[in-house]
Amino acid sequence: MNDTIYEASQLISGGDIFRSLAPPARLAVFGDPVAHSKSPAFQNAALRSCGIETQYVKIHARPDELSDALRVLPAAGFLGANVTIPHKAEALATAHEADDYARKAGAANTIVVEGETLVGFNTDGPGLLRALREEFSVDLRDLRVMLLGAGGGAGRAIAVQCAFESCERLVLVNRTFEKARDLAQELASYFRSDRLVGPAERLEAIPFEERALREQLAKTDLVINATSVGMRRTDPPLIPAGLLTPNLMVYDTVYATGKSRLIEDAEAAGARATNGLSMLLHQGALSFEIWFGRAAPLEVMRAALKAAN
Ligand code: NAP
Repeated sequence: MNDTIYEASQLISGGDIFRSLAPPARLAVFGDPVAHSKSPAFQNAALRSCGIETQYVKIHARPDELSDALRVLPAAGFLGANVTIPHKAEALATAHEADDYARKAGAANTIVVEGETLVGFNTDGPGLLRALREEFSVDLRDLRVMLLGAGGGAGRAIAVQCAFESCERLVLVNRTFEKARDLAQELASYFRSDRLVGPAERLEAIPFEERALREQLAKTDLVINATSVGMRRTDPPLIPAGLLTPNLMVYDTVYATGKSRLIEDAEAAGARATNGLSMLLHQGALSFEIWFGRAAPLEVMRAALKAAN
């Protein structure tokens, strides 16, 4: 396992080091920071299991380096890349083309090199869709969803996925309320239909306040945490434990700490709850499928992710 953290400057200056590796590095994840990324563990396991003579490495890129680093991928012989915090919006801006979902999400986490062209995709929302099927045997389109952290990058991508799926209801919650309100305005057209005949609006934005949360949770099936709260063991509770009820499903996209406080509180209330590892796995599997046009070896990737965690 190659744990080296390479620098974007090594790619921008020609990329010889990547060609000289055995097998050569032709895929990478770019981040700032990038050390924590688990993607190399499961992508390299997938590449090995499929007999693809390529390795996937970590490249540290500062925000002012990202565009240049992506632009040299074709000349450096790369097949594509993933990008993570804080580069997803810049990756979309740098790509020459992008699919509808990435464009609407305003972010790309996957780049494919097609000749001299960089094509951007976003597999976060579709990855969550698959994760929800796997974890809870449900489809997003059938659910009344409350999305916490709708104003962040992951939150926006998930909100757009909910809109594309036309889920039954979507309640956008964000600490900075204006961001949730603006996103609701932007997504309103996706929810304009007479599909749900009932007293509740299909799309609402609410402030991060206990009274508003309580009222909306009574009309919610699935709570998604897309805030960064829970990344540290010492983080305070995201929502009061007393608001959680046994009928809820709780998907916490945070996976850094195993079981977050939100998951512990949800389970104590009798709700089903899980962390974001399955989303991480499925977004990676979808990237693999986009790069290679074939099914990803999901169980190999799952085992490698488990071993790396
Ligand atoms: P981001 O763009 O920085 O957004 C952070 C979000 O958290 C914003 O909505 C922010 O609200 C909210 N927030 C921060 N502190 C808060 C607090 N104390 N109380 C309430 N809300 C708070 O980050 P991101 O890139 O979207 O990432 C968010 C999370 O998603 C991370 O934990 C990341 O691990 C996770 N994620 C997981 C996967 C996966 O595959 N499982 C993929 C992508 C992301 P304001 O707008 O008010 O600042």
